[in-house]
Amino acid sequence: MRHKIVIAGAGIGGLTAAANLLQAGHDVTIFEQASELSEVGAGLQLSANATHVLHHLGLGAPLAKVGVRPGAYVFRLHDTGEEIHRFALSDEHEQLHGAPYYQVHRADVHTLLAAKVLELRRDAIRLNCRVIGFDESGDNVRLRLADGSIVQGDLLVGADGLKSVICQQIAGNVPATYTGDAAWRITVPVERLPKEFMEQVMTVWMGPGRHVVAYYLRAGALLNFVGLVETDEVSEESWTAKFPWERFKADFQGWHADVQTIIDAADKDGCYRWSLHYRPAIRNWSTRRATLLGDAVHPTLPYLAQGACMAIEDGAVLTRALDQADSIPDALQLYQRNRVDRTVRIVNQSTANRTLFHLRTVDEIRASFAKRDEGADRNAWLYSYNPLIVKLV
Ligand SMILES: Cc1cc2nc3c(=O)[nH]c(=O)nc-3n(C[C@H](O)[C@H](O)[C@H](O)COP(=O)(O)OP(=O)(O)OC[C@H]3O[C@@H](n4cnc5c(N)ncnc54)[C@H](O)[C@@H]3O)c2cc1C
Repeated sequence: MRHKIVIAGAGIGGLTAAANLLQAGHDVTIFEQASELSEVGAGLQLSANATHVLHHLGLGAPLAKVGVRPGAYVFRLHDTGEEIHRFALSDEHEQLHGAPYYQVHRADVHTLLAAKVLELRRDAIRLNCRVIGFDESGDNVRLRLADGSIVQGDLLVGADGLKSVICQQIAGNVPATYTGDAAWRITVPVERLPKEFMEQVMTVWMGPGRHVVAYYLRAGALLNFVGLVETDEVSEESWTAKFPWERFKADFQGWHADVQTIIDAADKDGCYRWSLHYRPAIRNWSTRRATLLGDAVHPTLPYLAQGACMAIEDGAVLTRALDQADSIPDALQLYQRNRVDRTVRIVNQSTANRTLFHLRTVDEIRASFAKRDEGADRNAWLYSYNPLIVKLV
């Protein structure tokens, strides 16, 4: 049955859900607070569990153009650069899990998804529309916008990110606790780096209480750098909060020469820092006519690189649940039932990975890698999940 669906938020989650729902024949409109769909954020890693969905939307070819398939995951010591562990990605990931692993710029995926949504429905995205809440009755839901207008639909999807007003209305106030970590983020055009600077792998430098993740984007034209540091200074959770380059440089004093080369090549006015927070899991995230997806309901720390992947999975499963169930309330329960355990597991695993990345000494780092087994099955539960075919029960 064709439903009228309203979505709050045009991030990666809201756009993926909209594209899947439109493709399945529903009437979908997204309400986004921003005045334009602009380029924010930096690198994202997208594994098979998410790329299956992007392929299903017909985005396989453009994704392959803007993405980079890393050959391997390589772990190095922060000061000497000594390689202490390596496992294959790229072809091996695709063989094991049925779809590619890409490193992409968030803005590139966002642009592809927005274009897909607009191709399916020319006026599907309404900008300058800040959502402030909703009301629902037995047969419809009314979305309230800040300008006083009200939009009616059969179903509301809250995809309005970390500080979701829809989540607040469904689940109440969810407290955010500072983790003690901040993430520095920069991107550097490769022409500013020495020739043949780093191989096309995901490189992680591990040091006491901090680590760096560096990888290429945009067919190798841009190097993405994320530097995770422990700090008592709580700041904003934002893609656009800038901090002085000198502070960034000081945070990695004494680190390997390659790390210094990247930091020195950074745009001095383009160093962003995101303050990482924990939020407790929510297990009941739907009413009869409203539900949530993405960071609005299961925000996660970036230590497993799965926040956007989960948001992408959500949209595909929600679309299938609507197709499978006899009514909207049943579909929302089916969707939620099939998403809660998996997303809670991913969030918990991401939190647990913080310990792996923030060891105190080089000896501890070596010891933890000596025990690691990156065998074929280790991550099967995570990457072999295909939201397009997984059985919904
Ligand atoms: C440092 C860092 C590294 C990361 N790396 C990865 C990675 O490698 N791989 C990965 O999968 N994930 C990663 N993530 C997580 C990923 O970025 C997020 O999980 C993902 O972007 C969430 O998408 P979303 O659509 O749910 O939310 P958002 O992207 O936050 O989108 C929400 C949208 O809703 C809009 N909105 C908000 N409030 C309102 C309102 N009241 N009315 C209307 N519109 C509203 C916003 O403007 C925005 O457009 C990382 C995150 C961080 C911080």
